[in-house]
Amino acid sequence: MPSWERIKEDFPIFRNLGSGYVYLDSAATSQKPMSVIKAISDFYLYNNSNVHRGIYRLSEEATEMYGRSRENVSNFIGSHDPGQIVFVRNATEALNLLSYTLGWELVSGDEILITIMEHHSNIVPWQFLQDKGIKLVYADIRPDGTLDMDDLQSKVSPRTKILSVTHVSNVLGTVNPVREIGKIAHDNGSTFIVDGAQSVPHMPVNVETIDCDFMAFSGHKMLGPTGIGVLYGKRELLEKMHPFMGGGEMISEVYRDHSTWADVPEKFEAGTPDIAGAIGLSAAVDYLRSIGMDNVMKHGRDLMKLTFEMEAEENIPGLLSYGPRNTDIRGPVYSFSIGEIPPFGVNQALVDDGIGVGTAIHPHDVASSLDASGIAVRSGHHCAMPLTHRLNTVATTRASYYVYNTEEDVRRLFRSLKRAAEVYSK
Ligand code: PLP
Repeated sequence: MPSWERIKEDFPIFRNLGSGYVYLDSAATSQKPMSVIKAISDFYLYNNSNVHRGIYRLSEEATEMYGRSRENVSNFIGSHDPGQIVFVRNATEALNLLSYTLGWELVSGDEILITIMEHHSNIVPWQFLQDKGIKLVYADIRPDGTLDMDDLQSKVSPRTKILSVTHVSNVLGTVNPVREIGKIAHDNGSTFIVDGAQSVPHMPVNVETIDCDFMAFSGHKMLGPTGIGVLYGKRELLEKMHPFMGGGEMISEVYRDHSTWADVPEKFEAGTPDIAGAIGLSAAVDYLRSIGMDNVMKHGRDLMKLTFEMEAEENIPGLLSYGPRNTDIRGPVYSFSIGEIPPFGVNQALVDDGIGVGTAIHPHDVASSLDASGIAVRSGHHCAMPLTHRLNTVATTRASYYVYNTEEDVRRLFRSLKRAAEVYSK
């Protein structure tokens, strides 16, 4: 097992912020190791030029570096063909690309099945299609925060053309059984999409084992830079799809009245891509690989185990946390509230089955109070408003862990939380 204290030293921001700073907002964006920062600055210092266009050495080198980055990312997620990796800005753009391109093929009466635990980026792009008469259907969660597979199965019908689910919930931490869900989708002839924004950074992910048709994820949540993300898609599907955006790079030939498209993946990469971003993401992949994704996953689980232990030990009055307690099906995300004031009036059914009851110390106050102790957490709806409402609240506080977090960070979180709860209860 790597030394996690040592790993923290690879992240220069902690030297700059002071070694006592506790960053618990990696589900929003991760910090960057020096190797990633260096790969990006080296590109601009020594290799900068546009890709694909130049017949000169510098541009050829940049093109080669960009291509190698694609290969590296492809290997990292178990795709045998780098042509299946489309570089986009982020998971959000990848899912919008799918909504536009797959959406063109759908007709009124078709249905898209998602889950109530989706991030807005796997909800709103599909809502755009409602104007065409396409229906968005939600699978529910069970009281323990896991996906209700019976409910999901019961909502699959011949009208279900797309089944799109998050691999790991950014609020509950729930790891969904994507292989099983994929089988349900494919048995029904539906296209299966996985939002891997919270899984690819934290666990070994193999798109071919999962057998998803598409997967979306963001570089910035996995130690890479902002502005680069990935859409994985099976080659035969990408080849059949209409392009998303038009312009340079994505064409083969352009005439006055029509154009022909470049091969995949370039067909989906209109305009000058984020070359330095792709190179930075590749460096992030190298860094994660050097730790080992099994170790990354185990570390996340260990910190979650400690979180539940600290929860029991500190026994903070009114603390209510969400999501499964079984750390084998739990990403390193801990959302909680303190107190019991329901925002919309009590939905007794939800209270009875333990799903949630609301907040008394507002999560923003919890977050500000932790900030005063040098602990960064997020508060709000975490871009998952339908889930937040399903939990019968308007906001939660969320701590999320990554490779630079240590056991001491978790202990400090709980010590500070206990103090905050005491102050507010006076
Ligand atoms: N999906 C999930 C599960 C997320 O947690 C996030 C970001 O928090 C996204 C999608 C969107 O990621 P991005 O903002 O990088 O596009």
